[in-house]
Amino acid sequence: MTGTLIARGTVIDLCYLFAAVTFILALKGLSNPKRARSGNFIAMVGMAVAIIATFFRPELHNVLPMVIAMVVGAAIGIPVSRFVKMTAMPQLVAIFNGVGGGAAALVSVVGYMHITAGGDKPATYVVLEVLLGVLIGTVSFSGSAIAYIKLQELITGRPITYPGQQVINALLGLGALVLIVIILIHPSVALLWVLLAVAFIVGMAIVLPIGGADVPVLISLLNSLTGIAVAASGFTLDNNMLIVAGTLVGASGLLLTQMMCKAMGRSLPNILFSAFGSAVTAGAAGGGEDRPVRSQSPEDIGVTLAYAKKVAIIPGYGLAVAQAQHTIRELADELEAKGIDVFYAIHPVAGRMPGHMNVLLAEANVPYDKLLEMDEANPLLKDCDVALVVGANDTVNPAAREAGSPISGMPIINADEAGQVVFLKRSMRPGFAGIENELLFNEKTTLVFGDAKETLTKMVASVAAN
Ligand code: NDP
Repeated sequence: MTGTLIARGTVIDLCYLFAAVTFILALKGLSNPKRARSGNFIAMVGMAVAIIATFFRPELHNVLPMVIAMVVGAAIGIPVSRFVKMTAMPQLVAIFNGVGGGAAALVSVVGYMHITAGGDKPATYVVLEVLLGVLIGTVSFSGSAIAYIKLQELITGRPITYPGQQVINALLGLGALVLIVIILIHPSVALLWVLLAVAFIVGMAIVLPIGGADVPVLISLLNSLTGIAVAASGFTLDNNMLIVAGTLVGASGLLLTQMMCKAMGRSLPNILFSAFGSAVTAGAAGGGEDRPVRSQSPEDIGVTLAYAKKVAIIPGYGLAVAQAQHTIRELADELEAKGIDVFYAIHPVAGRMPGHMNVLLAEANVPYDKLLEMDEANPLLKDCDVALVVGANDTVNPAAREAGSPISGMPIINADEAGQVVFLKRSMRPGFAGIENELLFNEKTTLVFGDAKETLTKMVASVAAN
């Protein structure tokens, strides 16, 4: 009997090892648009193996409620994921992440009850990891919930600030740490609930002063925290799979946060504590309406494009709003059919989430070799006859090259180096950062006002006719 249990344990561990390897391979796959789908699939296989193996753990109880919970979760998760709009993806990630953090916190709460139920005092490090699981998981849960509410525009996306906010937030954080120390010295379930409540408030307090513009970076950070909370649950439950998976999520979330900060030319403390996007957005919105700009019809631009040799398409958030990914591909196809060289210049933070443009254009089956990352694309722009900016703004704004602008230091796509710049947008409103774009007023710039999809449809017809 004991021999069978040991053999079963070994098989389960091997399954977990297999799953851990698939997760690492999946992360590698997800780093490249060509391999992203297979990366996702590999992770799904690994996760399925890990879940099935877990059902064979000898200490497992309450199998029926677990199966019911899984069925309910799948019944909600599958349709929500299938039907979510691409523009609403950040909210979806926020809510999924929050649920993960909340689950990890609940596991730690149950773990605490369990380890303190017996007469013996548990080792301090065991209690500490459980309490950290409660703290981090709950912060991630309530923080993600507020991030979701902001992105869904159920409350204002602007930073919500009040006098003394940073001091109050620091005191709340300190209070949570003091509570942990007290619980370590005097174990108490009542104080555990107090810790949970304080952690809940800390999560909300951290996210409220962050502007909608910076919320996706925050979600990536909260995702990393959820990973750490899950790893803490793994220690509580003595489950290596959770430790490995949680650590991978924690580390990759942190790396992604860093990469997003770098691509936005901002530091993490600046994003967390500067309440970016309040005064700036309000002050600059529509500021350029009185200055003259050159505008033309889609048909005229179609003619210009038809006689170009090399065209760079620079997509941004507006492409996602207009859902014009298929139409832009049609335009590129028409141009290529005329022997014109076309490529897409992709800024790492174009859109509202990392990889937004890649996902959108992949949906329209744009060949991967046509998608050039910023560093690859920038040297080619000076040889382009036209830079066609489709719903992008901040990511081509030359203000980023100057000191004193809110986006100073953010690397941009050098659209202004092309022979002509054409902007497709609906109005003179600024982009996400809320600041004016001098490139709109440049003498080589032409604006085509209107929804990108409608404009592009007319341009396709014009290119085909010329
Ligand atoms: P921006 O938000 O700077 O600009 C979007 C442009 O699209 C606007 O000029 C808008 O003008 C136009 N637009 C909106 N809807 C339409 C439509 N239906 N048809 C045509 N045009 C439209 O976008 P970018 O992609 O250039 O920049 C992304 C911004 O988001 C950066 O500031 C980045 O830092 C930030 N960000 C990105 C994250 C990411 O991970 N990708 C995460 C966090 C922040 P108009 O309203 O006049 O039409």
